[in-house]
Amino acid sequence: MRDELERMMDGIAAAATPAPEDYTDPATGLLFCGKCHTAKQCRVMLFEMERLMPCLCQCEKERREAAEAARREQERLDRIRRLKATALQDRALLAYTFAGDDGQNPAMKYARRYVEHFAAMKERGQGLLLWGGVGTGKTFAAACIAHALTEQAVPVLMTNFSKILNSLSGMFSEDRNRYLASFHHFSLLIIDDLGIERNSEYALEQVYNVVDSRYLSRLPFIITTNLPLAELQAPKDLAHARIYDRVLERCTPICFNGPNYRKGNAAANKDEAARLLND
Ligand SMILES: [Zn+2]
Repeated sequence: MRDELERMMDGIAAAATPAPEDYTDPATGLLFCGKCHTAKQCRVMLFEMERLMPCLCQCEKERREAAEAARREQERLDRIRRLKATALQDRALLAYTFAGDDGQNPAMKYARRYVEHFAAMKERGQGLLLWGGVGTGKTFAAACIAHALTEQAVPVLMTNFSKILNSLSGMFSEDRNRYLASFHHFSLLIIDDLGIERNSEYALEQVYNVVDSRYLSRLPFIITTNLPLAELQAPKDLAHARIYDRVLERCTPICFNGPNYRKGNAAANKDEAARLLND
């Protein structure tokens, strides 16, 4: 055992082949690096015998650290690329970024704030309800949020209820539960277009399952809808009420229609999430 270990140690020492510019330091008798002039060897006591062991000189240490940092950075970029491809599967949405915002829509401020405060929002399970008429920039805002968060390596999924309903329609209940649970992998779930399915009882049931599953997971979600906030606050029947109640409990309403914008925001001012969005 001892012989074996000794042979191994000698092997390690021999493996550190000196470079042509290396030299033996007269003061210490150790091999020094010709580039950075720090030791490439150290003395260790092993089995009551002093041995010279190779060690990393300063420039080699720095070279290895830089290579490791570059490898980690490449890994981070690869991860972001994968996250982005997953988050924004609709290729048209990939073009929507805060950099492309023309600054005309005051509600975009809240989308930016949401990204800035995402850690606190996630902690509270707090999302956004982006509501307002067709073509007011809700989808744009939601996609900008998805984009900005994936840049920070946050797993996001942006989808819509039509896609979810399509996926669910061919599934048995066990697969459905697994499908709904798969959304838990994402720190933020963004669902576009709540309300387009309001006329079908089956669809309402599935929308409820999606919202309820997210609600129970206590992970944040963002909903966009063309429905007026008043309709969400005063649903016409129980089937709608149980969906909208959960959405309103977890999602701060942000109005995407100019004139109603302050009204929607005043309602949200009550809670801490709204304070973070407004500070
Ligand atoms: Zn060196």
